Amino acid sequence: MASIALKNVVKKYGKGKQELQVIHGVNADIADREFIVIVGPSGCGKSTLLRMVAGLEEISGGEISIGGRVVNQLEPAERDIAMVFQNYALYPHMSVFDNMAYGLKIRKMPVDEIRTRVDKAAKILELGHLLDRKPRQLSGGQRQRVAMGRAIVRQPQVFLFDEPLSNLDAKLRAQTRLEIQKLHRELGITSLFVTHDQVEAMTLAQRMLVMNAGVMEQFGTPEEVYHRPASTFVASFIGSPP
Ligand code: ADP
Ligand code: MG
Repeated sequence: MASIALKNVVKKYGKGKQELQVIHGVNADIADREFIVIVGPSGCGKSTLLRMVAGLEEISGGEISIGGRVVNQLEPAERDIAMVFQNYALYPHMSVFDNMAYGLKIRKMPVDEIRTRVDKAAKILELGHLLDRKPRQLSGGQRQRVAMGRAIVRQPQVFLFDEPLSNLDAKLRAQTRLEIQKLHRELGITSLFVTHDQVEAMTLAQRMLVMNAGVMEQFGTPEEVYHRPASTFVASFIGSPP
C-alpha cells in the first residue's frame, strides 16, 4: 500500500520550437488507500499525468513519489503499479486463468503462489466459475473483469485507470463502476482513476483532481468541488451554479 506525492510536476512534449508544455506544475498529496479521480475535458493532460506516474512518460520537471520513494528515474516495472486501460486486450487463445496468470508466470512465480493469487482475484471478481473459458466465451463485462483480474494478481501498491469504462454501454459502465468501488473497498489499494465524465468522477471519487489545460484547478472532495468551486472553470465544469 502506498501514498503518492506529486511535487510541481511538469510535462513538455517536443523540443525547441516544437516544444509544448502540457502539464504546468501539479501538486497533490494522495494518502495511502485513497481513491482519486482525475477529471477534465479531453486534451487537458489527464493521460499524460497518469502515464508519468506509471513511468510510461518521462517527467520534465518536479518529482513523483510512491510510498515515500522518488520514482522519477524508475522503470514502470520497478514502480509497483498496475494500469487498467480503456482498450484491454486479452490473449484469445488462453483461458481466463492463464490470462490472469500470465504476468506472474513470466516473473517465474511458484505455481502454487500463482494459483492462490488467481483464485483470490477470481473470487473478488466473481470469475471463479469461468476460469477454464476462453475470452470469446465471455460477455463484455466478464472480459473487463478478467482485465482487472490481471492487474489485481500482481498485488500492486497503486492502481492506475485510464478511462477504463468509456468503451462500454451505459448499463455495463454503471455495473463496472460498482465493481471498481467494491474492489477498492475490499483491497484498499491507492487508486488514480482518469475520466472526462463529471458524473463518473462525482460517483467514484473520495477526492477529485480537476484539470484544465494542464493546470490543476482544484483538488478536493466531490462536495467541496461541487459546492465551493475554486474557479469559474470548475464551477461551469462541475460545480453548482454561482
Ligand atoms: P487527456 O488525456 O486529458 O485527453 P492528454 O494527456 O492525452 O490529455 O494530452 C494532453 C496534451 O498533450 C494534448 O494537447 C495532446 O495533444 C498532447 N500530447 C499528448 N501526447 C503527446 C505526445 N506523445 N506528443 C506530443 N503531444 C502530446
Ligand atoms: Mg486521455
